[in-house]
Amino acid sequence: MKILYISPEVVPLAKTGGLADVAGALPKALKNIGHDIRVIMPFYKMTNVPGPKREVMTIKVNGETVEIFETKLPDTEVTVYLVAHDRFFGSRDCLYQVKGVDYPDNLERFALFCQVILPFCQALPWKPDILHGNDWQSALAIAYLKTLFKADPFFARTASVYSIHNMGYLGLFPKDKLPLTALGWDQFKPERLEFWGKISLAKAGLVYADVINTVSETYAKEIQTAEYACGLEGLMQGRQSDIYGIINGLDYDIWNPATDKNLPRRYSPATLTLKEENKLELQKQNNLPQNRDIPVIGMITRLADQKGFDILAGALPEIMKLNCQFVVLGTGDQKYHDLLQKLQQKYPEHIGVNLKFDAILAELIYSGADMFLMPSLYEPCGLGQLISFKYGNIPIVRRTGGLADTVHDYNPETKSGEGFVFSEYSSQALLDSVKRALELYKNKAAWNALQQKVMKLDYSWDASAKKYVALYVKALAKIGIAAL
Ligand code: ADP
Repeated sequence: MKILYISPEVVPLAKTGGLADVAGALPKALKNIGHDIRVIMPFYKMTNVPGPKREVMTIKVNGETVEIFETKLPDTEVTVYLVAHDRFFGSRDCLYQVKGVDYPDNLERFALFCQVILPFCQALPWKPDILHGNDWQSALAIAYLKTLFKADPFFARTASVYSIHNMGYLGLFPKDKLPLTALGWDQFKPERLEFWGKISLAKAGLVYADVINTVSETYAKEIQTAEYACGLEGLMQGRQSDIYGIINGLDYDIWNPATDKNLPRRYSPATLTLKEENKLELQKQNNLPQNRDIPVIGMITRLADQKGFDILAGALPEIMKLNCQFVVLGTGDQKYHDLLQKLQQKYPEHIGVNLKFDAILAELIYSGADMFLMPSLYEPCGLGQLISFKYGNIPIVRRTGGLADTVHDYNPETKSGEGFVFSEYSSQALLDSVKRALELYKNKAAWNALQQKVMKLDYSWDASAKKYVALYVKALAKIGIAAL
């Protein structure tokens, strides 16, 4: 099958969150099972091109000239096309926003990115069987396939898949920008791209894709309910038979404490005590007392409401009184930067605060912490808990989305479960789970057995990649094409 995987971020080229991890790993897994998958993304100023790149062509769309380069994902034969445009991508310091404030021309930026994609395929020429869009930044490409290019014979046998990595980001823009998308005003209605008087670019994917999927089975059900659909429950319920859930995998070539070159000390289940060396280094870097017996709770996250910061804010002063340390790494909303900085001033012996994006420090936290906190309000899949498993951290999570699918509450009697889980979205429920985790930590044998168990869980991409192939087959069937 020929698949064009469209993503605004891809590891290791550019990343703000879990989508980048998926976009760097799923194509690799699909290539390994014999599919011709290629990736296309914008060429940002901070794009870290992992190897040689060469210019493929220059294309003119909408009066703008765009250069397209190609490179490969590291250690793979997966081609990545980079869409270069100086004003929109090459001269910006960040991907979508600075200090929590979106670039005002994000619609123009990502509309141009999407407008390039179909003419580029024709010019190559390379006829994809599947156009796979991810999140609102790539959704317009799917709408173009079904509108502007509907009658184009080149794409007559191309089906589309739209993956929702986070329903909370609808890609909302003022109505008067619609002409910049090259779509007509016939698209400005609630059953198409309109969302309460605005344009929602996510709807371009949700309305037009042949099939839709999201990154866990529970979240696939949740996004059809008023609580999680962010106002699109009607649309999602209408598309119920086209919505699937496939849990994300992890790229264990990257996320593996036995081979991770960035760790002070590498370890495996057989050499788990070496993990303590990383803990001592983590404590040192965070100016916390170095003590291998004090449990460290780690948290690596975007500082956004979605991640449960309001209930965490209520619980943290209590957590500071317990026998544990807390290390957080993240950037995002200013109010949470302020909150964490205040806590650090008040409890310097208990909390380490790192307000930045830092992939190396993230690995030190995964390898040095004992527990990993994810009190999310909602969580489409969550990668932190899967990475934590591999690094022998025990997740403390709220039962929602992918967290509900991957972490089950530990039962001290039967030893079933992989972490500590709470349901109610409250500071008290969070605190109770932290206390249960700290209690078990005192029982070294039980804690060690739980670590050994989670480290051996297999969330590699192999199984999920096969499910994506089945999804592509379903998308093709929707346009009347039998399995290739
Ligand atoms: P989301 O995609 O909602 O941000 P996920 O849990 O799916 O959340 O994925 C987050 C990914 O981004 C993980 O790989 C996590 O380690 C990483 N990450 C998040 N914030 C930071 C940060 N400040 N520094 C380094 N890595 C981060």
